[in-house]
Amino acid sequence: MAVLLDGDALAATWRDEIKRDAARLTQAGITPGLATILVGGDEASAHYVSRKHQDCAETGILSRDIRLPETVRQDELLGHVRELNAEPTLHGVLVQLPLPAHIDAASIQLAVAPEKDVDGLHPLNLGALVLGQRRLRPCTPSAILGLLQAYRVPLAGRRVAVIGRGLLVGRTLAIMLADPAIDAIPTLLHRGAPDLAAVTRESDAVIAAAGVPDLVRADMLKPGACAVGVGITYRNGEMISDIADDVASVAGFLTPRHGSVGPLTRAMLLRNVIEAAGAYSAATRGAGPTA
Ligand code: NAD
Repeated sequence: MAVLLDGDALAATWRDEIKRDAARLTQAGITPGLATILVGGDEASAHYVSRKHQDCAETGILSRDIRLPETVRQDELLGHVRELNAEPTLHGVLVQLPLPAHIDAASIQLAVAPEKDVDGLHPLNLGALVLGQRRLRPCTPSAILGLLQAYRVPLAGRRVAVIGRGLLVGRTLAIMLADPAIDAIPTLLHRGAPDLAAVTRESDAVIAAAGVPDLVRADMLKPGACAVGVGITYRNGEMISDIADDVASVAGFLTPRHGSVGPLTRAMLLRNVIEAAGAYSAATRGAGPTA
């Protein structure tokens, strides 16, 4: 029987810690603050953004919800980002993706102040990740690692198949797994891999972040291996994982079909806001009076 990697329960304990950290910072005079910018009326994006603000309200983080029309110009959007960068009561700035096609998303991401980049996707923060330096880190791979570590899934010296090379999950996760602090042996798989099963069957853990329903089946897993479903697809209103149900008969550790990485990703965003506010607090204390 596979051990269930219960991200919902873990996220609840993370939120309790975040609440305590937010209260501690507030007492010290810095209430952590997050601003989000949502462009256009995409329903799913609006839902994700609303939940982020709910999370902030529940944990004592101030939040500002900026909504802009689909037709917003690149320079107008950049203006909003720069305004938020300069706002001292806000420690995190997040521009919800995807952006409309006429907006150059990369230059918007680049415009977010690196110390407020709570998505961890600014090139400076990604560069620090590659260098093994501690800065703001992408939320989903950090959430996955946190989940595996909380359940003591062995990683050091173990082969880990990561399916999907998207920046949000697979590519950055593979870098983090190979870090000497984790010491796993990742293989980064993608659409061009000729034989996924040949790699997954040799792996001690399989992390699927492709967005292909039921991509990993029981016959592709080594008995006792860990299977983490990150990719999700909606079909007729139902959420389908990249990990097929029959994997439960073979896996040693397994994420539940619904939820786990999602709630942890949301909690990790709040952790990044706390980290950014903490760094701001330390920097402003350190600055002292200028005489
Ligand atoms: P992406 O589109 O950037 O990347 C998808 C990757 O999957 C690509 O590298 C592609 O090569 C690979 N892929 C597609 N089909 C494949 C196949 N048949 N075999 C092997 N590889 C294949 O997507 P992303 O932003 O990295 O997100 C990946 C998935 O994770 C999506 O389903 C997304 O919804 C989900 N996601 C979940 C969370 C969460 O919190 N649960 C967070 C972020 C992303």
